Amino acid sequence: MRCGIIGYPLGHSVSPAMHVAAFTAFGIDGSYELWETPADALAARVEALRDPAVGGANVTIPHKQAVLPLLDVLDPLAGAIGAVNTIVNRDGRLTGYNTDAPGFLRSLAEEGGFEPRGARVLVLGAGGAARGIVHALATAGAECITIANRTLAKGDSLAVAVETATGVPVDACCEPGDLGDYACIVNTTSLGMLGAQQAQLPCALDSAATGTLVADIVYNPSQTAWMAEAERRGLPVVGGLGMLVHQGALAFELWTGQAPPPGVMFAAAAEALGQGKP
Ligand code: NAP
Repeated sequence: MRCGIIGYPLGHSVSPAMHVAAFTAFGIDGSYELWETPADALAARVEALRDPAVGGANVTIPHKQAVLPLLDVLDPLAGAIGAVNTIVNRDGRLTGYNTDAPGFLRSLAEEGGFEPRGARVLVLGAGGAARGIVHALATAGAECITIANRTLAKGDSLAVAVETATGVPVDACCEPGDLGDYACIVNTTSLGMLGAQQAQLPCALDSAATGTLVADIVYNPSQTAWMAEAERRGLPVVGGLGMLVHQGALAFELWTGQAPPPGVMFAAAAEALGQGKP
């Protein structure tokens, strides 16, 4: 079975390592390729997925929205979020899914012991990743969600979209203010990523209540400066590697019908990032 990832650029992707490890664990004769695809080649690239040898693809920046009209069927969750990160080829028909959102929830549950039901949650950022995450938290029963984003208009528009779709109260602001009310704070901004933003914290944690779960979806480095600050304050922490691995595991299951042992994909992703076992 041939699978791969569609995005541009793709130099940083750890997905091949994760999926090859999962194919190997099951003894499946599979390959996972880097399909670097500029925007003007996207339609042809997606069309090529109908080949009977192809199981499907992951989709990443900047194509998660642009692929929607190129597919035959859209899973309802992907349709509600408006973004596809996994395509499955079934006898030449292409179905689009979003495994980022359930992957994030699974990471909160398994690595953080956290269930959103009845919780007040703060989400920092309103970019592509935040769309799925705010939607996932709302559909998982969060009591209310606040989005804090530098560009207020983007936070506002995401808040309106998710509140309209789910009925869960979602508001937006530029600065989060007092954090004492939140059971969970999620960073979906790029602050903390390896590179120029690595030392920057998405928000101060002075006012966070004891026990507030601090979740950072940035996965490179595996421990961000913000996570280190949360740990210094004795707050429970979940990093972004878990979301990355769980979204990949859910995609693999859609292609092959088999759920890979998460430890296998975790170890492969961590090794590909040069970080050893998490
Ligand atoms: P994106 O669409 O470009 O959104 C970036 C977000 O960061 C926006 O909310 C942006 O605010 C904010 N931001 C950027 N620079 C900022 C600054 N200097 N000060 C304050 N806010 C700033 O990116 P994305 O696709 O959502 O990805 C965001 C991060 O999540 C990346 O680090 C990515 O690697 C990570 N991620 C992880 C996973 C995983 O599986 N763990 C999955 C997806 C993404 P504005 O709206 O004001 O520009």
